[in-house]
Amino acid sequence: METIRSGGAGDAAAVKNLTGPVTQEELLAIAGPGSVVSGEDLRSRYPGYFMSSIDARLLVRPSTTQQVSQILALCNERRQPLVVHGGVSGWVRATQTRPDEIILSMERMNAIEQIDVANRSAVVQAGVVLQTFQETVEKHGLCFPIDLGGRGSCQLGGNASTNAGGMRVIRYGMMREQVLGVEAVLPDGRIVSSMNSMLKNNTGYDLKQLFIGSEGTLGVITRLVLRIRENPRSCNTAMVAVPDMATVARLLRTIDAGLGGQLSAFELIDNDFFGVNTTEGRIRSPLADLSPFYVIIESLGADQERDAAMFEAVLADALESGLVSDAVIAGSERERAELWSIRETLEHVVSDFTPFYAFDVSLAVGEMEGYMRNVRGLLAERFPDGRIAFLGHVGDGNLHIAIGAGGPDDRHAVESCVYSPLTAIGGSISAEHGIGLEKKPWLHISRSEVEISVMRELKNLFDPHGILNPGKIFKEDAG
Ligand SMILES: Cc1cc2nc3c(=O)[nH]c(=O)nc-3n(C[C@H](O)[C@H](O)[C@H](O)COP(=O)(O)OP(=O)(O)OC[C@H]3O[C@@H](n4cnc5c(N)ncnc54)[C@H](O)[C@@H]3O)c2cc1C
Repeated sequence: METIRSGGAGDAAAVKNLTGPVTQEELLAIAGPGSVVSGEDLRSRYPGYFMSSIDARLLVRPSTTQQVSQILALCNERRQPLVVHGGVSGWVRATQTRPDEIILSMERMNAIEQIDVANRSAVVQAGVVLQTFQETVEKHGLCFPIDLGGRGSCQLGGNASTNAGGMRVIRYGMMREQVLGVEAVLPDGRIVSSMNSMLKNNTGYDLKQLFIGSEGTLGVITRLVLRIRENPRSCNTAMVAVPDMATVARLLRTIDAGLGGQLSAFELIDNDFFGVNTTEGRIRSPLADLSPFYVIIESLGADQERDAAMFEAVLADALESGLVSDAVIAGSERERAELWSIRETLEHVVSDFTPFYAFDVSLAVGEMEGYMRNVRGLLAERFPDGRIAFLGHVGDGNLHIAIGAGGPDDRHAVESCVYSPLTAIGGSISAEHGIGLEKKPWLHISRSEVEISVMRELKNLFDPHGILNPGKIFKEDAG
């Protein structure tokens, strides 16, 4: 193996290999003692991890942007593939590794560097856990509105890389709308600092947008400037029963108009999902009778007394006009949590539906009824014993679908039941979870050939040696 003395930026190692995989010693020389995990310590690191297999060679935990830059420069020079890990809570196997790869874990870059209350912005490192950030800004009377079930483990860098959505998109938008600035490291080690903290900045290409939602394929996000909002001072939550999907769509418009901008969540649960979670011995059903659909409606505002009165009046109108057949309003934080637990608890559906498949698609609200019927029909035809349930952020046109059908080799057939009906209605195979490896074979349903080839050109421009999260989203060379 050829070696040379290192002279410049790579103070990583006094002696560098020119060929061959990057070694543990070289990574330790960059990121310091205790920064590298290998062998059994690495394999046993993700005990409950069911979406990916972890068989990477090494895991490195840098603490600074400079270290990330040196690691990437070294890997780029040596054509060493690496995969970025945030909280590893993603659903599409975007963090899956191969045995020759190195994991770059962002867990040590977990500082909240600044909270600017006057500007309502914050500077954070990418490895800060979402929930930690939410709780920290709340102490300043502010709120970070991205909220999702994986809040306790997912990281802000992962949220940006997947353009995460969650429960409050209808009011505040997705992660893309919360990011004011980004610092990212390119595969060759260059640091792109776009740490803008202004809401308005139309000065040419908005480079940060390329790193948001690109699932760690174009660069490693190391720091972010995030927009934070005023903490709502009122919260009203209800669960309502609705007879059909056409009525769900009408209800959405009525409630949104009636609440005058306060609507913050409009979450659908169908009877099948509701039934799984409210089976005897699980969660108590808050409503007397069964219904085809349920919606959790939540408003956030400024004055509890006034907003509660408005919320009740809007719901009373919906009951009177037949949009809603039954309704229950949470009277306390405990009751609110109970209502949400019917929507957020996934463990029962994962255990009841086997093998378990989870989908996340996007389509116009008006198309949902026909789409759900189609998917049910296709699934019943192919897997008569299959089980299916719909839920989701329906206010954003986002359906989640839980399926238990077939055997371990039937993934493609099950996916086909869900994805093929989207073509005719212009839907998306991924509303908020990304593409990763899971949805890669179906990307053509949502993206044209030209779009995919432009994506590939961008990938080649940023990462000509294909070292960063290789093989995710699309095949890099052809189709
Ligand atoms: C119970 C539960 C509920 C969920 N609900 C929702 C939901 O409602 N809405 C939603 O959108 N998602 C949801 N998710 C999915 C998941 O939490 C999000 O996709 C989240 O944004 C992933 O963040 P992470 O830090 O775990 O990223 P990871 O899973 O670690 O990584 C995801 C992708 O981002 C890349 N990446 C991570 N960090 C960086 C970085 N710093 N720089 C560059 N690339 C990076 C990875 O390489 C990978 O491609 C849920 C997950 C769980 C477990």
